[in-house]
Amino acid sequence: MIQIAKKKVLLKGMPLEELNNYFVSIGEPKFRGGQVFNWMYNHLATLFGEMDNLPKLLRSKLADDTIIKTLDFVDSQISASSGTKKFIFETIEHNKIESVIIPEENRTTLCISTQIGCPLDCKFCATGLMGYKKNLTAGEIFDQYLLAAKDYGKDNISNIVYMGMGEPLLNYSATLNSLKIFADELTTGISLKKITVSTAGIAPKIIELADSGLKVKIALSLHSCFEDTRSKIMPVNLKYSLKQNIDAIKYYVKRTGTRVTFEYVMLKGINDRQDDINALAKLCAEIPSKINIIPFNSLKHMNPEGYSAQLEPTPKRKIEDFVTRLRDRNITVIVRYTQGDDIAAACGQLATNYS
Ligand code: SAH
Repeated sequence: MIQIAKKKVLLKGMPLEELNNYFVSIGEPKFRGGQVFNWMYNHLATLFGEMDNLPKLLRSKLADDTIIKTLDFVDSQISASSGTKKFIFETIEHNKIESVIIPEENRTTLCISTQIGCPLDCKFCATGLMGYKKNLTAGEIFDQYLLAAKDYGKDNISNIVYMGMGEPLLNYSATLNSLKIFADELTTGISLKKITVSTAGIAPKIIELADSGLKVKIALSLHSCFEDTRSKIMPVNLKYSLKQNIDAIKYYVKRTGTRVTFEYVMLKGINDRQDDINALAKLCAEIPSKINIIPFNSLKHMNPEGYSAQLEPTPKRKIEDFVTRLRDRNITVIVRYTQGDDIAAACGQLATNYS
């Protein structure tokens, strides 16, 4: 007998309103949506059997018709030098996803992925080198948090950054739905003020996110204030120029009342000159912002070719000098010294060796 698999409804990843609608659509009272929301996102339930305030019959129907578990735990590694912990998860179709926990003095940040691979091909990024495989669903995005919280303790994760593999704003609706779940503070205890979405600069989507009403923080991967240089290291700049992105960021900051973070990977001879300091100072004077300086993490483990193979890190002393000069111009600068590079969990190193 040929069995045709029934297409199951993916409940994990639905924000409250969608869950309510689902239950109404199957002839159940709307409040079941809230109950299942609470079980999935607050109590980290992965089995309907646990949901003891739901009728038994409904539980078995849901088990037959729907999915509430999108990822499996595969492996984790801890960096001996920094305590950074990298998780490898697996989707139902056996794609691997990486998420990283970064403990710092006064906070612990979970860095989550929004795509498998990335289509943007930024020349300094390992994920770019591996190419693009697929968009994650909202469930797969949020499940990274749930699985990490299960392992590491919910109370031990204070901040979330959408800075893992992929470009969140190219997977806009799933990213937005995952943020809507985070926005319900009941689920995580983490307020949107502690969640940052990082983008390489998809200007129209920055505006859409500003208009979504979710006052999440935004980070722009800037890396150069000059259009030509930026296009060389980030080809996406040819599609959405720096000017378009800066205009979108100005709108975002005004609309949400937040401050933007500019991420800036230090590349020797490319973006570490006095001209770059002047341009950064001018930009930051115009926008409520801070700069995250990120030392460039080597891609040597990926055997890069072409322009990527030529990129070198700015030496540490030069970074320090660059930072001092920026601070002298009254700019808020934070240096993100590399964490977790011994387990390839540092910025731009997420490109799984497992797949
Ligand atoms: N696509 C999003 C989020 C993923 S990248 C974005 O571009 O913002 C997260 C951060 O890591 C970005 O600021 C990115 O520029 C930085 N990054 C990428 N490769 C890096 C590398 N090799 N060394 C240091 N930082 C890197």
